[in-house]
Amino acid sequence: MNIKISLIGAGSGAFSLALIRDLCLTRNLEGCTVNFMDIDPQRLTASANVCRRYAAELGVSLRIEQTLNRAECLEGADFVINTALVAGHARLRSGWEIAQRHGYRWGGSLAIMHDEAFWINFYQLRLFESLAEDILRICPNAWYLKVANSVLGGTTLLSRTYPSLKMTGLCHGFGGVYQIAQFALGEYEKEHLSFELPGVNHFIWLTKLSYKGEDVLPRFRRWVEEESRAYFATCGESDHMGPKPVDLYRRFGVAPVGDTATVGGGAWGWWYHTDDATEKKWQENPQRWWNGYFDWVERVARENFRVANDSTVKMTEYLKPEMSGEQMVPIIESIACDLPRTFIVNLPNTNDYVPGVPRDFAVEIPARVDGQGIHGLMTDGLPTELLGYLLRDRIVPWEVELAAYQQGSRRLLEELVVLDPWTKSMRQARAFVDELLSLPGHEEMKAHYRPV
Ligand code: NAD
Repeated sequence: MNIKISLIGAGSGAFSLALIRDLCLTRNLEGCTVNFMDIDPQRLTASANVCRRYAAELGVSLRIEQTLNRAECLEGADFVINTALVAGHARLRSGWEIAQRHGYRWGGSLAIMHDEAFWINFYQLRLFESLAEDILRICPNAWYLKVANSVLGGTTLLSRTYPSLKMTGLCHGFGGVYQIAQFALGEYEKEHLSFELPGVNHFIWLTKLSYKGEDVLPRFRRWVEEESRAYFATCGESDHMGPKPVDLYRRFGVAPVGDTATVGGGAWGWWYHTDDATEKKWQENPQRWWNGYFDWVERVARENFRVANDSTVKMTEYLKPEMSGEQMVPIIESIACDLPRTFIVNLPNTNDYVPGVPRDFAVEIPARVDGQGIHGLMTDGLPTELLGYLLRDRIVPWEVELAAYQQGSRRLLEELVVLDPWTKSMRQARAFVDELLSLPGHEEMKAHYRPV
């Protein structure tokens, strides 16, 4: 296949191995050029070398290139995948420490105790804009698959600012539906499953689930009533279907999927996180969950480096030759080979795919993908009360954050912080923002958000 795929942030702890596996296992893409790009030379070389050796072991012919130069990476690209994180995990965590001292907890807004914190988003949004401009200049026909967070704010911003960019935001969180299906069905074949889980990224709810044409939501309800208690005893903390998500299901009649109610998606809603005792009661432990996540991504990057430099390691033992379940490479295959399939993507709500969400805001929806591109599909939307929470807790804060970012306004940034349910006074919000912007390393962001 004579196409070029450009990977920006190719050293990503969360995605490098999944992408390498999927690229090498997708025979339809054999012969394509894959260009790895990262600003960290060690991570870059490790990822590219792991990929080279993996492809060699599997006997797959891929043209693997690497570069530290983004423009060179984009030259002639047909697909661009972005998994870059500019301000890394250490900066995220030092901001969280300050936030916690100022009274912030998980369960509030995505903009503070979450990995889409505004002090991370600032650098991500700037990267997204400059990358979009480069794509439109260097490879304007390329498809841009944006995996880096924020999927929600970033996809919204880019679709408003660069309407000609061929883009979708992708998140693997929707995969939680497969666990729900397993609870409902036991063993099942994925290809016979169909579902609808409309919403916006990190706020999607399972409104329809059928298997071979049968509505199997009643079976899931039965699992909740009869078996979920036994599951809680084994599932550990902050689980996708632990006591808290099940409680939300009982309350709203539809199940939160993936990161919607988990720590990875901001730990919505705040009332399960009011204090440590309440969190314990609901089997929630955001701090431990995040520590585990950070350990994992750092371990992957370290292991990649070790394996890349150890020629005795058999790559197919290091990385089992199985598709990862990530959507990026299958989407590329569907477009490049005109293989129509349905994926879960993030697109602006131009056609009212999720009724009630503003049309210039990104929604997470099913889409038919084929040689002609990515075509969003209509959904029946969410129950009224969940639409209300979606507007209040996801859309309003992002509108304020985007306005603060685009206007460089410290005042609007403070208003964003005021929207978090843990803010009790303007004074608290200001003190937090002041301390955060004064952290070493945030000089550019401090200069950007001017006091007016
Ligand atoms: P990471 O720090 O392990 O990897 C990020 C990589 O980006 C690093 O190799 C870094 O050197 C590189 N990088 C930084 N600035 C760059 C730049 N300007 N150009 C090119 N490369 C650059 O981070 P991670 O944990 O792998 O997360 C990567 C991104 O994916 C984050 O935004 C994270 O929030 C997001 N994420 C998305 C999903 C999803 O399903 N959409 C899931 C998990 C993580």
